Amino acid sequence: QTEGSFITFTRAQEDFPSVKKLNPLNKKRILVTGGAGFVGSHLVDRLMLMGHDVICVDNYFTGSKVNIAHWIGHPNFEMIRHDVVDPLLVEVDQIYHLACPASPVHYQSNSVKTLKTSFFGTYNMLGLAKRVKARFLLASTSEIYGSPKEHPQNEEYWGHVNCFGPRACYDEGKRVAEALTYSYARQDGVDVRIARIFNTFGPRMNFNDGRVVSNFILQALRSEDITIYGDGSATRSFQYMHDLIDGLIQLMESDCTEPVNLGNPHEFTIKEFANMVIGLVNEQRDQPSTSNVVYLPAVIDDPPRRKPDISRAKERLNWEPRISVHEGLSETVSYFKRAMELEIAPVL
Ligand code: NAD
Ligand code: UDP
Ligand code: UDP
Repeated sequence: QTEGSFITFTRAQEDFPSVKKLNPLNKKRILVTGGAGFVGSHLVDRLMLMGHDVICVDNYFTGSKVNIAHWIGHPNFEMIRHDVVDPLLVEVDQIYHLACPASPVHYQSNSVKTLKTSFFGTYNMLGLAKRVKARFLLASTSEIYGSPKEHPQNEEYWGHVNCFGPRACYDEGKRVAEALTYSYARQDGVDVRIARIFNTFGPRMNFNDGRVVSNFILQALRSEDITIYGDGSATRSFQYMHDLIDGLIQLMESDCTEPVNLGNPHEFTIKEFANMVIGLVNEQRDQPSTSNVVYLPAVIDDPPRRKPDISRAKERLNWEPRISVHEGLSETVSYFKRAMELEIAPVL
């Protein structure tokens, strides 16, 4: 294990049932787009540990080579620098299509590109799936529910989305990606899966990610002000990335072609969440954090609440989160603390 490998495996391999179960006869060639990103790189790790052949495709817009560096040179691993807006010719059995910036700061920085990635990127990967008869999984998002009028959100809810606000490039991009996915399924018989992912956190979130988890942890570790946008009453439900990775693999292996919510239903206000982060950071520091909570103007179209109904995932995939937010957050704080000390964390 190298100095950097703590970034890789925060848990023992044995902790993942899927790692032990793979029959060598079931070894597959798997494409992960966005594989150098936060979620994608953990998915690559798990698929590699299971013994699959993995091709990782990324243009490094928000991802980093650091996240997958530990696999370079492994005979089952291949890295391709490629933008999914352009066609791609590879031969694979499964495609996990994750390529797309996920943080509001990044997806809004070039909203036209976000839409191109969502549409043309998904179109190309579906065209690829159609040609090689691969099973295709789309990483969709809870954002397709917009500012929800129903709470919690189940998969039958059609959403309440502003199609011309600053988040539209992402929300509508993912909605069209879902529509495209089902059109390829209906028209061309492509075998598809759709994961609607709710807020996910964990090691390897970029230092400049801009989402609430990494912002609050870094602010608390650096004793800077904790920035709450609005009055802190907005809610989110956070899942630890290992649970998401389990869910993505279980969905891919299932026969469930309807969209499936993957998230942790434990809901927090952002204010409660800030206090939890400060408490956990203080547990791991010699000196308590001197951060103050400051309230900044609310961001436009910020969904006021979000919580998944995961009945379908429970029923169809036999999946539910196993790791509490507290436990996952504690591992994430350790990661950020160590990454700061080693100065090897991915920074955009
Ligand atoms: P991320 O930004 O860390 O990863 C996205 C990866 O895609 C990056 O490595 C980026 O460089 C790559 N990418 C972006 N545009 C690309 C393009 N045109 N061509 C090739 N590669 C490209 O984000 P993440 O949190 O790992 O999210 C991964 C996926 O999961 C995204 O599709 C996102 O929409 C979805 N998702 C994530 C969350 C979450 O909370 N993390 C929630 C809902 C949905
Ligand atoms: N495509 C790809 N790799 C492949 C097959 C297709 O990137 O192996 C792209 C192709 O270039 C096209 C898109 O996927 O831009 C959709 O392909 P499809 O065959 O469905 O559509 P068509 O090319 O017939 O419009
Ligand atoms: N947020 C915050 N301070 C930050 C970053 C985010 O208060 O430094 C809030 C944001 O306004 C939203 C919630 O935290 O209400 C989650 O935001 P994030 O950008 O993490 O993800 P989203 O769920 O909005 O895509």
